[in-house]
Amino acid sequence: MTLAAPSIQSLIEQKQQELHDLVQYPEDKLTSIIRDVGFKCDLCSRCCTEKFNDHVFLLDADTAVIKQIDALALTPAPYFEFCDQYGRFYVSGYSLKNKPDGSCYFLEWGRCRIYSSRLSICRVYPYMLHREADESGNMDWRQISGLNEHGCYHTEIGDSEAREIAKETRDYEKAFLEQELRFLKAVNTHFTKNGLRHVQKVYDKKMRLYKKGESIEVWVYYNSTFEKNIMPVEQ
Ligand code: SF4
Repeated sequence: MTLAAPSIQSLIEQKQQELHDLVQYPEDKLTSIIRDVGFKCDLCSRCCTEKFNDHVFLLDADTAVIKQIDALALTPAPYFEFCDQYGRFYVSGYSLKNKPDGSCYFLEWGRCRIYSSRLSICRVYPYMLHREADESGNMDWRQISGLNEHGCYHTEIGDSEAREIAKETRDYEKAFLEQELRFLKAVNTHFTKNGLRHVQKVYDKKMRLYKKGESIEVWVYYNSTFEKNIMPVEQ
């Protein structure tokens, strides 16, 4: 299958609709869900592991913080969105590396090494506000991640605290969608200008070779530009 520029355009429209729906979501409803769930972190640190949370996606502002603290912690976020006919991948941002045991690069003795400047997603987790398919494939809003799988529940959360969490959660999701939209528009322009197109066949072939140890070129969208990364990192 080949995704040409109009298909990227349809993805842009889809994300714009998601953003519109997100902004319309009643903040009172999210506040009430947060109070009902009454989540409290019990410092189990499971949410800081690949097994539990796959990866920590970084908004541009978070990437800027990590570049200051330790740029070696950065890696292109997985599940690259596009691959052009020459085998170059494109992805909407960076994520944090995991250690070989699957725990976050910054997790040490069960605690976050950068807690005082921790990242947007780490601040709002486990709260979220986006549409996802359930087990039957029906799309619905999801507001809490890993429900009943970690932490404590049904603790007392005051109204003003819950409202603050709801606001921070929606702000995060909005910033995430806006970054995704900027990325899609930038890819669309870059492809159109340079006669490029997404080719799924090339994507699949390059990924197979990558899994066998061959290096790949990944262009990561950051601060309105694309940064070239070679994976795995050359020593
Ligand atoms: S940056 Fe800190 S809080 Fe975030 S996943 Fe890593 S260890 Fe956990």
